[in-house]
Amino acid sequence: MVRIGKREKEHQRKVASERVDVLLSLAEKFAKDRPERARRYVELAWEIAKKHRVRLGKRKRRFCRKCFTYWTAGTLRVRLVHNPYPMVVYRCLVCGEEYRFPYVREKKMRAKKS
Ligand SMILES: [Zn+2]
Repeated sequence: MVRIGKREKEHQRKVASERVDVLLSLAEKFAKDRPERARRYVELAWEIAKKHRVRLGKRKRRFCRKCFTYWTAGTLRVRLVHNPYPMVVYRCLVCGEEYRFPYVREKKMRAKKS
């Protein structure tokens, strides 16, 4: 096995993260008219992210990790839930999978006040 230094590894992760961005923007471009093509881009992006342990952060909210659909208005239903704490529930209308995300941004804004 070839030894990779820490700096080199970090660089690789940065490059991988950029590739994920490129693939996701391609997926976005094709999501409406060529969903199968978009799905392939999402799948590739997800594989790269996993392989290089790229943190997806907000990018996680743009596609389904189960069926790799790049969400558009027609393939996603967003719902708000307040129990046990405020959450946004994303339901993929292609495979039915649900994802829960906390209200991070709102919390941060409130925290600023105190
Ligand atoms: Zn799905």
